[in-house]
Amino acid sequence: MAESKRGRVESIPKCQDTERHHHEKCRIIKTEEDLMKKIIQKNGELSLSTRAIHGNKLYAYTGPVSLPIYQTSTYRFENSEEAIRYAKGDPSVYVYTRYHNPTVHDVEEKLALMENAEAAALFSSGMAAISTAIMAVTKSGDEIVSTPALYGGTYRFFRDELPKQKIKVSYVDPRNLAGLSKLVSPRTTIVYFETPTNPTIDIVDIKELVMETRKAEKNTGRKILIMIDNTFASIMNQDPFAFGVDVIVESATKYLGGHSDIMAGAVMGTAEYVKQVKGLAKHYGGCADPFAAYLLFRSLKTFELRVAKQNENSFALAKALEKHPRINRVLHPGLPSHPMHHVAKKQMSGFGGMVTIEVKPSKKLAPVEAAVKVCDNLKIAINAMSLGGVETLVSIPVYSSHVFMKDEELKKHGVTPGMIRISVGVEGIHDLIADFEQALNGI
Ligand code: PLP
Repeated sequence: MAESKRGRVESIPKCQDTERHHHEKCRIIKTEEDLMKKIIQKNGELSLSTRAIHGNKLYAYTGPVSLPIYQTSTYRFENSEEAIRYAKGDPSVYVYTRYHNPTVHDVEEKLALMENAEAAALFSSGMAAISTAIMAVTKSGDEIVSTPALYGGTYRFFRDELPKQKIKVSYVDPRNLAGLSKLVSPRTTIVYFETPTNPTIDIVDIKELVMETRKAEKNTGRKILIMIDNTFASIMNQDPFAFGVDVIVESATKYLGGHSDIMAGAVMGTAEYVKQVKGLAKHYGGCADPFAAYLLFRSLKTFELRVAKQNENSFALAKALEKHPRINRVLHPGLPSHPMHHVAKKQMSGFGGMVTIEVKPSKKLAPVEAAVKVCDNLKIAINAMSLGGVETLVSIPVYSSHVFMKDEELKKHGVTPGMIRISVGVEGIHDLIADFEQALNGI
């Protein structure tokens, strides 16, 4: 896999904490710092888990090992002098949690480090992150080019909200990315995409999309921001910056959170862009809650362990289900039968924890009825929306992520009524295979 454009951790960032920050007793000990530099130099980079567990606190400092929760909406000024410093633009003065919060700040710092970004902004949900990331660089009259297979919420935001702001979205066929040049105009500000897609687990060739966008950009002379929703793969399995993508948006509710207990979203990119996003977030108000930020920080410590197991389980389940007579299709990017397996192999370091199956209808049961029956028969896998948690979840896209869509829209997204989307958890794989087999045998 190519090296990230933004580069990995090459030096130990200095402690940026302000006097208000909870690490105010931080003492950087020079010898320790040099020692850590040596470790980094020896291995070339710190592993994902090391970054996820320690963030950039790789120097000796006193204070808590776990992250304190700053459960506060506001901050007491020492005196008015401090308020004046804030008013004059000093960013180190904490004033209000919608603007910034130390717990949220530490999660942002860690996410940026994990995702190879200059900076990150944390939000109250994936949709708050996505909508703010888009609106931060788009104004009335601008245009977006997107691939059509998107998370339903994003698609509905594009379909129902952006036209109210006079922002047009056009859709490029991911199998013909050369068509992008016809859709890009001098008003195009963003090329937006997801891969793997939800729920069809289709793969978009990231390298080709970036190449075609840069080509089209030359014709218009206007810089286009390439934005990916990396929720399905997560940074564990796919590093979009390494391919020249500009911005990663992600629902941290999913793999980053990993326990189906928080809502959060993240935007990663250059420091300049993230500053713009944070500026707009103050107005739109989708700030992260400190307690959710704390839970996310905690979850990140086991991120690599969880996702590695989910990768392993999903592949084993996909292989087992491919043989089942009550299944039409199994969609998983790691299966050689996947039409885009060759591209997935090039751009993913792991194939992720998502599998979609299409249940065979019978004389008695229409496709969606067969899918419903399978979901109702399952004993271990839970019938619930969302994904990325340690527990296996199943959902029927036409009743969940892709509800309120017309037949032609479903067709465009490749969604069929017999589909069941499986977010594979970390349970014992033999139990999971047995559960799906009994559920399918029972229809
Ligand atoms: N992107 C993808 C791929 C998703 O699956 C989801 C939610 O299911 C979102 C974004 C939205 O995230 P959230 O529900 O955290 O707002």
